[in-house]
Amino acid sequence: MKVLSVASECVPFMKTGGLADVVGALPGALAPLGVGVRVLVPGYPSMMAALPEDAEVHALARLPGGKARLVTGRAAGIDVMVLDSPRLFDRSGNPYLGPDGRDWPDNHLRFGALCRLAARIAVDGLGGWQPDLVHLHDWQAGLAALWLKLGRRRPAPPSLLTIHNIAFQGLFPRGAMTSLGLPEAGFHPDGFEFFGQLGFLKAGLVYADRISTVSPTYARELMSPEFGMGLHGVIDSRRGALSGILNGIDVEAWNPESDPHIASRYSAANPAGKAGNRVALARRLALHPAREGPLFCVVSRLTRQKGLDLLLEVLPRLLARGASLALLGSGDPDLESAFRAAADDHPGRVGVVIGWDESLSHLMQAGADAIVVPSRFEPCGLTQLFGLRYGTLPVVARTGGLADTVIDANEAALRAGVATGFQFSPVAAAPLADALDRACDAFADETLWSGMVRRAMRHPVGWEASAEAYAGVYSELIESAA
Ligand code: ADP
Repeated sequence: MKVLSVASECVPFMKTGGLADVVGALPGALAPLGVGVRVLVPGYPSMMAALPEDAEVHALARLPGGKARLVTGRAAGIDVMVLDSPRLFDRSGNPYLGPDGRDWPDNHLRFGALCRLAARIAVDGLGGWQPDLVHLHDWQAGLAALWLKLGRRRPAPPSLLTIHNIAFQGLFPRGAMTSLGLPEAGFHPDGFEFFGQLGFLKAGLVYADRISTVSPTYARELMSPEFGMGLHGVIDSRRGALSGILNGIDVEAWNPESDPHIASRYSAANPAGKAGNRVALARRLALHPAREGPLFCVVSRLTRQKGLDLLLEVLPRLLARGASLALLGSGDPDLESAFRAAADDHPGRVGVVIGWDESLSHLMQAGADAIVVPSRFEPCGLTQLFGLRYGTLPVVARTGGLADTVIDANEAALRAGVATGFQFSPVAAAPLADALDRACDAFADETLWSGMVRRAMRHPVGWEASAEAYAGVYSELIESAA
């Protein structure tokens, strides 16, 4: 089975969030199941630099945004197809935002070109390779579903659109349609119009043959006005085509037994080494965590979605319980300065690093006792999965993938010996504070805590089950298209 995966991010070439992890991990996870994936991505400088010397170059006929080339080859173990258009993608830094922190004004052309190319490769093939199916990720790939349906020359392969986060919808003024060559006839609420604007994700939701999202709970939530962000109606109308498939994590890169980023290695069978990481993390962040209280950590984008304003609200109560906090994140300037101020106010007890630091994110997971993820919504969430793998018990909002991956330490779960973390609901300060209190209580009971740590570390968080689920959806789609 041959699959063309289309995305704006792919680990290790470009990453701003979980989307990149998933796109980068799926090819390796699907290969043993007989699925050969090629990933079509934009030629950002970091991607171009990673291409091998023997990469093949294909000339491309005109795309939105002007002349371009397609460069194909194997990089970091992934078969990549790279849209090389310096005019659109030779810009370093964040893939969507310019230096002023605003969306690039030509994002419709940049990702429109990616979509157009995806549809062309899918229908015409490239150098004898033609996919049986196209897997589109998020709004940046959404328009490809439309172009696959519009092309009348030959039957197109079926498409699956995966929603990694409905908050990002790729909305543009109606005028953008002209430069993209989109038919006026499709601009209506049952087509790609979203309240007077052109919606890339909307197009994907309407025209893809199947839709998936990254957890069963988020799939259900997306059909409600509270979570669907205006798209709940269209998603509900396609509920028969919708699946929820949990993300996995790369258990090689995230392995406390061999992780090169951490201070001492450990495992579920031999967890003693975790203590050395706690010391290293404390030193790195100038913390003096009290022995009797847990060291909580956060590794996150600092945005409203992630609910970290709630953590700021309950911080005094947390510190009064003898707990400490280590935070690594960046984003909203108000949240950045509020956490910086919290660190200044509580030296030794609150440590804050503002920025992006892959290596430190590993040490945070290894060194902390628990990880806090109080998201208002969370399609899947990866940091709680890393937390489970590293025996860093997750304290999570009961939403999306957080609800599906963490087993709350309620009485029944404790009695049954299955608890792996702490959940709270609704997403508000008081329930979060209660969950953090429960975590502090559990931490004080060494036998209980160490049992939960071992169980969390054995919880399956790899890609195996999810890769099989994707392969299953792929097969169904290909069979029904045949
Ligand atoms: P989202 O995709 O919504 O940002 P996820 O939990 O799905 O949330 O994925 C976030 C990913 O980004 C994780 O791999 C996490 O470790 C990483 N991450 C977030 N913030 C930082 C940071 N400041 N430094 C390093 N890695 C980070």
